[in-house]
Order: sequence, then structure tokens, then C-alpha cells
Amino acid sequence: LIVQGIAYINNTLFERVSIFIDEDSGKIIDIKVGYNIQASDKVIDVTKNRYRILPGFIDLHVHLRDLAYSYKEDYYTGTGAAAKGGIVLVCDMPNTKPPTNTLDNLKLKVNKARSKALVDYGLYYGSPKDTRELKYVTNHIVGFKFYPEDIFTYFDKNVFGEVANKAANNDLLLVFHAEDPRLFNQRAPPGLERTDIAEYSAIDNIINITRNLLRHKVKIHITHISSAKSLQLLLKTKKQYYNEFEVTWDVTPHHILLDNTMYRINAGLYKVYPTLKTRYDNMRLYLALLNNEVDAITTDHAPHSLNEKMRPYNEACPGYPGLETVVSLLLTMVNKDLLSLESVVRYYSYNPARILNLKGLYGVISKGAYASLTIVDLKAEWKVKAEDFVSKAKYSPFEGWSLQGKPYLTMVRGKIVFHDNMLYGELRGWGKNVRELAKTKS
Ligand SMILES: [Zn+2]
Repeated sequence: LIVQGIAYINNTLFERVSIFIDEDSGKIIDIKVGYNIQASDKVIDVTKNRYRILPGFIDLHVHLRDLAYSYKEDYYTGTGAAAKGGIVLVCDMPNTKPPTNTLDNLKLKVNKARSKALVDYGLYYGSPKDTRELKYVTNHIVGFKFYPEDIFTYFDKNVFGEVANKAANNDLLLVFHAEDPRLFNQRAPPGLERTDIAEYSAIDNIINITRNLLRHKVKIHITHISSAKSLQLLLKTKKQYYNEFEVTWDVTPHHILLDNTMYRINAGLYKVYPTLKTRYDNMRLYLALLNNEVDAITTDHAPHSLNEKMRPYNEACPGYPGLETVVSLLLTMVNKDLLSLESVVRYYSYNPARILNLKGLYGVISKGAYASLTIVDLKAEWKVKAEDFVSKAKYSPFEGWSLQGKPYLTMVRGKIVFHDNMLYGELRGWGKNVRELAKTKS
């Protein structure tokens, strides 16, 4: 199989190339400059100037739900939304029902995902109920996720040290949702019940705990930072402790494009944690994208039923689906000259692959890497209409937005899972647990 067109090669430049793919291994076996194919070759021709061939996008933070929450989303609709959104690998959070914090519960998920996934996926484990089970789980997960409640209760028991050591020895990521519950104020107006001070305080605590407990080099990742204050603290930390531990962080499109005045419109719909902050925070985080002061972009794809969303603020479920809008939101910024296509690849493909320790396999178009590619149409224009989502969550904070730029084709290890508005649903089960995939191939 050959893909020919303008591609982002070896993470440096766009060139007119032919990419040769071995369909058995799903890997790229050769890249030749120019379009030089034989009549007998099977070819995907995207040589028109409106297309760009990019390393497939990777999302470090999504909620695919399933199990008892399959009315909100399941592994097929969640990974289908990813395929349509141009994303080849999604990392799924453990706050499901039942939660992914025991070996038995993990097995439930491993099996569900295996039969339904359309794109590759990683699974996170929650705060473990029994650390003796950890030796059986490390081969199936990409990392651990800690929630606000964990940070100030669970951590005191010193179990964190054990988890962190396991993570360091097995190349697993420690991901934190940073908001300090001691500073929440449930009686505050929408959006102000959790402030930037709560986020700052949580990050400060996480850094101190990490510093005090670890002798091993460990990687911590602060997800969905939402404020200028947090960014400043993280930049300072990176400088100060770079030889003690590695810290990375991501931002979401909604924390860059939406601000807290949205709560006046329809507070329940816009409800999300961390809360939307001020326009100043939006702009500081956008600047961070321009200055390379961020490691990754994530969606925090958090689907709920419409009914759970259309409630008064205090009763509405927090979060939005994001997988089917993220790439178009970013390409719209590219089309407006607000962002480079290179930085979109860096934050949503190359860096996530590096953070997950999948460098060389994902996040690049190069020989030996998986042929997991996203071909985008830079010119396609469309309007966000949540009722057309593949995701079961039929609402969006970007409803009605006019966007320019769209995923045109998504390929996962040599197989097309989405092409020209068509989802290849018959391929469900093709998506693999990226951690298990890495183990079988090495
Ligand atoms: Zn989340």
C-alpha cells in the first residue's frame, strides 16, 4: 500500500512523498521523495494541495466510559468518534463504573475494549485498592490517574511511593487532575466554585509530594491546566527540579477558546472541571502554545447523556465530548495563521508519543513507525452540529461554530478506519491496547 501526497516527514518538513506501507506489520517500510509508483500498486492518492499527511493524532486524556456507563459512551462509539476526529490512539481514564482500581475491574475493561475498539488505546489505572495486584496490571496500562480526592486523602497513606516506584520501573505515567478540594466552595456562582487558586494549590502539593517521596526518576503529568498561575508554577518547577523528576502538562481546546462568561449563557452545558477561567487565562495558555511552554493538547473527551447535561448547574454532569471537534478547531487556528501545523503535530502527536514512551512507533512518519496516519483536508468548511456526532454525547460547547479544516482519512497501523466522512465500523476490534501491542512486538 502506498500513500502519496504532501507529508510531514521525520518531524521536520513537508515534502511531496510516497509512503510505502507493509500491510502485514502495519508499518512504514520506505519513504521516497516524489510520486513514483507502478501501475500495479495499491495507492491512496492525496496529492491535491488541500491535503496534508500527518502522523496520527494521539489524545492522552479521554473518557470512553462503557460498562455501567455505556449509555454515555462505549468503546465502539468513543473510538469511532476518535477515528472520525483523526485520532489514532486514545488514553482512557479509570473513573468508570466499576472504577479501574482493581485487577478484576481492569480485566473487564481490557476485554470490552478488545472487542470494540476501532483505533488504538491505552488504559489508565486509578488509585489502587490493593498494591499487591500492581505486578499483574503494569503490562496492560499506560499509567495511573489521580483525582483531586486522591491527592489529599489517599496520598497520606504513603501508598503513593509504592505506585510511583512501580511507575518509574515500568515506564508508566503518573497523571494528575490538579484541583484542591479543600478550597472548593459549592455555594459560589457557576465556575467560581473551583478557582485558579485551587488548581495552583493542588499542583504545588503534587510537586512537594513527588519531591519528598521519590528517589527514582519518575514522570509526572499534570493534565488540563486551565490558568496562567498554574502555568507559571509549572514553568518554574521544570527549571528548578529538572534533574529530580520529569514534569509535563497539557491544555485542552476549551481552556484556550472558552472563558467563564459562557456560564451566563447556559451554565449546565458549559460546566467542566477544571472550570473555565478568564480571557486573560485563555490568552496566556494560547501564548504558551506559541512559546513551546506546553507539552501536549488533550480533549478530556467527557461524554454524558443530554439529559444529564441539561440540568441546573449544580446538578449537571461536568465535561464535554471533544474528539470530533479538536482537530478542526486546531486547523481553523492554522488557517487563520494563529498556529502552525507543525505545532499541532508536536502537541497532538509527536509529544504525546514521547510522553507515552512510544517514540519511533507513533507520532512520526518515518521508516519503522506504524502507518498510523491522519490525512487532513485544510480547506473543508463545516459547522459543528452535535446531533451528527458518532459519540453518544450529542452536545458541544462549540455548537454552531464555523470551522475550516477537517480530518479526511484516518489510518491505524495500515488499515483505513475513516475515509471521506465514512466510518469503517466493520473494523471494530482492530484497535489494540498499545501497551499489549508493545509487549508482543518486542
Ligand atoms: Zn477527565
